[in-house]
Amino acid sequence: MDILIVEDEPEIAKLIQLRLEREGFTCHWCRDGLTALQVFQKQQPDVIILDLMLPGLDGLEVCARIRQRPGAKDPYILMLTAKGEEIDRVIGLSTGADDYLVKPFSPTELVARVRALLRRSLRYGGQSLVYRTQHFTVDADRHIASRQLDSGESEPLDLTTLEFNLLATFISQPGRVWNRTQLIDKLWGNDFFGDERVVDTHVARLRKKIEPDPSNPTFVKTVIGVGYKFEDEAIV
Ligand code: CA
Repeated sequence: MDILIVEDEPEIAKLIQLRLEREGFTCHWCRDGLTALQVFQKQQPDVIILDLMLPGLDGLEVCARIRQRPGAKDPYILMLTAKGEEIDRVIGLSTGADDYLVKPFSPTELVARVRALLRRSLRYGGQSLVYRTQHFTVDADRHIASRQLDSGESEPLDLTTLEFNLLATFISQPGRVWNRTQLIDKLWGNDFFGDERVVDTHVARLRKKIEPDPSNPTFVKTVIGVGYKFEDEAIV
């Protein structure tokens, strides 16, 4: 497993790198955003640990460019941010990060998060599951999701791994009401340490990609005081 560390503070980078290498990961390190994009293309890492505040291109821009690059490997992105430092933007809708960690953090927690991210890709692996509803098809095995348009054509959905897993979870049981704890359990297993708000972030991001009107959702509905449910007619 290859990990790219993008961090301009050498002490922090070194600490992360030593710890991850001790756990058996192969690490690459760079200290600015532009180099990060070049290393990403060359090394195709499985995970990117991306500091938010970087010289040149910042972490958000790097994240956006990696997510936009078609055909490339879709890595897990763990964003690092200092406390209070634009944290709303980090957990907000503008990033494609899968998870975030607020500095200062313990190396042990970082390793646990990385392992949790990597386990996610195995969660649906090995299962040949295709879910169909009136408007969506999710092939959990091949990691492909598409939306059926009114014209009858289907349009592929460009989802991050986490968004994909969230949609797969929803579509596996249309009509089921999920609370945040249940969704966290589905998406992160027992490895979750963060704030439950992160669920809302990913739901909002998914809505932006699948809902005709994200502010008035048709499919992923909010169940006030509980959580969320997915509504669409299942096709068996
Ligand atoms: Ca920094």
